[in-house]
Amino acid sequence: MHSFLFCRFIANGGRIIQKTVSSFDEVIDDYDLIMNCAGLRGGELASDPNVHPVRGHIVRVWAPWIKHFIHTDDTHYFLPQSESAAIGGTRQLGRYDLVPEVHESERILREMAERLPALKGAKILHEWVGLRPYRRPVRVEAEVIICKGKQIKVVHNYGHGAFGVSLSWGTAVYAAELAQQALNAKAKI
Ligand SMILES: Cc1cc2nc3c(=O)[nH]c(=O)nc-3n(C[C@H](O)[C@H](O)[C@H](O)COP(=O)(O)OP(=O)(O)OC[C@H]3O[C@@H](n4cnc5c(N)ncnc54)[C@H](O)[C@@H]3O)c2cc1C
Repeated sequence: MHSFLFCRFIANGGRIIQKTVSSFDEVIDDYDLIMNCAGLRGGELASDPNVHPVRGHIVRVWAPWIKHFIHTDDTHYFLPQSESAAIGGTRQLGRYDLVPEVHESERILREMAERLPALKGAKILHEWVGLRPYRRPVRVEAEVIICKGKQIKVVHNYGHGAFGVSLSWGTAVYAAELAQQALNAKAKI
């Protein structure tokens, strides 16, 4: 959270509690509204079967002599950053495993070096696998659900797939507007 917004949140009595929630039932007694921003697990919480992992494997290398980025397609990109460069990657729908495979790292590096010969000899610093929370379309909407016989307002904001960093600037604002409307509404959303 942006530090200015964080300070306002705390100054207005906001509290942050970190814990894993396995169902909305666990929180409905304590809050007026639930915001479901749980990424890949957002679908499980909402009983929505349309969320799937798209596994992404990235290799981080030391190659400070290359200053420009390259993006030839969704699985071939080179992104120089301050300390190192990230090279991608993979898009594997339905896979949940998080351990990087050596042959994938070698392929990612080899195929990028074919496109960017200056990369030859670059040292691998780190390999990483993450799961993109894929859903088509992204779900940003409000609904009223019944939990333990009680009506509960929920605002969903999940399923951003490969674009969560970029889209979050808009979806977070829209989700916050939906939450405000839901709180202002007397009974139903
Ligand atoms: C390899 C890779 C490359 C990517 N590249 C890009 C890119 O270049 N540009 C871009 O825009 N996006 C990119 N993305 C996608 C981006 O990272 C995601 O879209 C984004 O992280 C989704 O954000 P989110 O907040 O919805 O979900 P997440 O970041 O997954 O956050 C969900 C949060 O909910 C918490 N949570 C989950 N379940 C529960 C539960 N039951 N109880 C309590 N808390 C829970 C989690 O701990 C986590 O903190 C990339 C992703 C990967 C894997």
